[in-house]
Amino acid sequence: MDALVVDDILEEFVYGKISSERARKIIQPTKGLISAARKAKVPVIYVCDAHLASDPEIKVWGPHAMKGTKEAQIVRALKPTKKDYVFEKRVYSSFQGTGLDLLLRDLHIDSVVIVGLLTEICVRHSAADAFMLGYKVKIPSDCVEALSQKSQDEGLEYLKSIYGAKITTSLELVREWLKK
Ligand code: ZN
Repeated sequence: MDALVVDDILEEFVYGKISSERARKIIQPTKGLISAARKAKVPVIYVCDAHLASDPEIKVWGPHAMKGTKEAQIVRALKPTKKDYVFEKRVYSSFQGTGLDLLLRDLHIDSVVIVGLLTEICVRHSAADAFMLGYKVKIPSDCVEALSQKSQDEGLEYLKSIYGAKITTSLELVREWLKK
């Protein structure tokens, strides 16, 4: 059974310091995918940067999506509902220090659909942990984005060749979920 993991679609990455036009493209398809997931009772799990100044990433990227700030909020178009899960994270991977693995096991999930930002960073590290913990990984290519087309293409290729991720589309997943 699938779960949908929504990584870092936050103000910071869509409209803030680390944002780009590329990031904004994924909002509409991701909105459709999230709404289909809710209809199909596929768990929707948001995992969001909420950094402290001492986090290792801050040395690399500077302060971003700091805990408690507007920049660390999920973009308004994709607001979670009460039935969704929302976790905070302090490193690239959605699995580190969040309790995501325990939740997925409790829900009897064996396959994670990862969407969000950025393909070559948080999505990649979340996929790495998912793979190493024994989950199947699916990536709808229209719901993840990178900092450049080259990073997007190489990022998707890496996910496919290293973690055996199924590269799919939001439309394909919506069809799959809603036909059951
Ligand atoms: Zn971060």
